Amino acid sequence: MRIAFIGLGNMGAPMARNLLKAGHQLHLFDLNQSVLAELAELGGQVSASPKDAAANSELVITMLPAAAHVRAVYLNEEDGVLAGIRPGTPTVDCSTIDPQTAREVFKAAAAKGVDLGDAPVSGGTGGAAAGTLTFMVGASAELFATLEPVLKQMGRNIVHCGDVGTGQIAKICNNLLLGISMIGVSEAMALGNALGIDTQVLAGIINSSTGRCWSSDTYNPWPGIIETAPASRGYTGGFGAELMLKDLGLATEAARQAHQPVILGAVAQQLYQAMSLRGEGGKDFSAIIEGYRKKD
Ligand code: NAD
Repeated sequence: MRIAFIGLGNMGAPMARNLLKAGHQLHLFDLNQSVLAELAELGGQVSASPKDAAANSELVITMLPAAAHVRAVYLNEEDGVLAGIRPGTPTVDCSTIDPQTAREVFKAAAAKGVDLGDAPVSGGTGGAAAGTLTFMVGASAELFATLEPVLKQMGRNIVHCGDVGTGQIAKICNNLLLGISMIGVSEAMALGNALGIDTQVLAGIINSSTGRCWSSDTYNPWPGIIETAPASRGYTGGFGAELMLKDLGLATEAARQAHQPVILGAVAQQLYQAMSLRGEGGKDFSAIIEGYRKKD
């Protein structure tokens, strides 16, 4: 299949590599020339603009940092995706953005005869490289049926959440909970340590008791509990606190618009914000525990 892939960063580049491996012909666009050169060596074709990439393709995929980039890439009248795309071309945005923007871009696409869906992912850069991402898809049933086989070449769980925007809703609700649960586990682990229990013993108890959650049993923030967790390698190479802060911002803003309280979410947002201010936003988000520990 001829696929336009726009946005080839930490997530997009490994996703595109998996599509190349699966035998698709990719029309690539990014502002970063070096990633384009690298993917061209693997057989991708470099396009001059999102418009050109879309014009040459039977499917368009985007993986961009935030809502402003998504708007620019789709809506720019000169060289945006919608300026070049043929009516009827299935299109999916995998960036994590607010549901309102997803619906706004969907409307602009629909006006051009294009069905656009949102499919944010979870699974991180490791999942993108391994092709094991979870895709949370907000799309019409027809578009979902078209997208599913291609998304399967980049992911393991492809979930149809409902109409456009619901993929983003699922993603921001999950990350709201994740941001909060990581702080809860951090408080419990640090308190246990301060009171004198061995942290391995405490983690073992939590992970076989009612406090168990992903933040405790797979991604525990205390160093050395889970060998593969970022905490055991200096909080590097995971899900950056800055990205968590972005997702909590999306959740609290969506909550504001819905007049829905997210009290713990707002506190969590402020804690990650303080981490960012201390210059630690590049660390994995589980480093939030450092705010609860005396420096060694
Ligand atoms: P990134 O910053 O590494 O990559 C974004 C890419 O988009 C860059 O290569 C950048 O040059 C390109 N770009 C920006 N503006 C552009 C434009 N106008 N035209 C073309 N290209 C443009 O970000 P990432 O880590 O790949 O994340 C992408 C999205 O996935 C984000 O919304 C993020 O929240 C989400 N996400 C990230 C992770 C993660 O672990 N990194 C996990 C799940 C979801």
